[in-house]
Amino acid sequence: STSYPEHIWHNGRIKPWAEATVHVMAHGLHYGSSVFEGIRSYPTPNGQAIFRLGEHLRRLYASAKIYDMPIPYDLDTLATACREVIKANGLARAYLRPIAYRGLGGFGLSAETPVDVAVAAWHMGPYLGPDVLEAGIDACVSSWQRFAPNTIPAGAKAGGNYLNGQLVAREARRLGFGEGIALASTGLLSEGAGENLFLVFDGALHTTPVSAALLNGITRNTIITLARDAGIEVVERDLPREYLYLCDELFMCGTAAEITPIRSVDGRPVGTGQPGPLTRRMQSLFFGLFDGSTPDTRGWLDYV
Ligand code: PMP
Repeated sequence: STSYPEHIWHNGRIKPWAEATVHVMAHGLHYGSSVFEGIRSYPTPNGQAIFRLGEHLRRLYASAKIYDMPIPYDLDTLATACREVIKANGLARAYLRPIAYRGLGGFGLSAETPVDVAVAAWHMGPYLGPDVLEAGIDACVSSWQRFAPNTIPAGAKAGGNYLNGQLVAREARRLGFGEGIALASTGLLSEGAGENLFLVFDGALHTTPVSAALLNGITRNTIITLARDAGIEVVERDLPREYLYLCDELFMCGTAAEITPIRSVDGRPVGTGQPGPLTRRMQSLFFGLFDGSTPDTRGWLDYV
């Protein structure tokens, strides 16, 4: 049985988990009209810190702007809510889930419903399984494509997008893979079901561009920034599917997935079939932000 945290922030106040409910006729439930974030907090030598809280919340407002969905709380209020739910649940580290959704107030697609907001927090280990950060995963290219530009905007982190993500992820699991990788409508590489992609060629990082219908991930941006600071070349470029089979190293990244090595794609080993040295280096630079071995020069740690 799943056990839930005790408290959740909902429409302005902390409530018992069981009271934070939605009506069955809520617009967001029927039509996917919600925008959300996934944020992690980590214990650090200076106390628990929420990673890039401001950037995540700004992306939440950006997603809401795309869907013309006014969020009735300001950013500082939601930032405070994030800190409060961590404390209210006594979590030493957390996965935070702010969500704004169209509530009860009309059945038409263009209905001006109230926009309800919640922030949940719970404990989440490595997203793709217990040992994956060390061992890596076996991935496959999905038979499901990423949605095309100007259909569903990939730049919004909206609930409805994750119908596509569920098709990709569930197909991969059904076939025995750790995660699925989607191609864009162009046939070029896009991203994982809920993760961005990095390929390594000759000591340089190559990542797919936002034009490939992907979410402009904050972990992706973190990796690009840390790599450039360390003098590692980073190239954002169109990449064809077969480069997954030819690269020296490959990894996925996201708030939930952190930095997960990929050891094979479609049954072909990536490089040696083991997580490679640049993947390990990026993991150690990334996780170093939380043990203090990577200095937080950009104010990415927001202390609870
Ligand atoms: N792509 C998709 C589709 C995602 O859902 C996520 C997770 N939010 C990412 C990429 C990674 O984004 P971030 O690093 O901001 O968590």
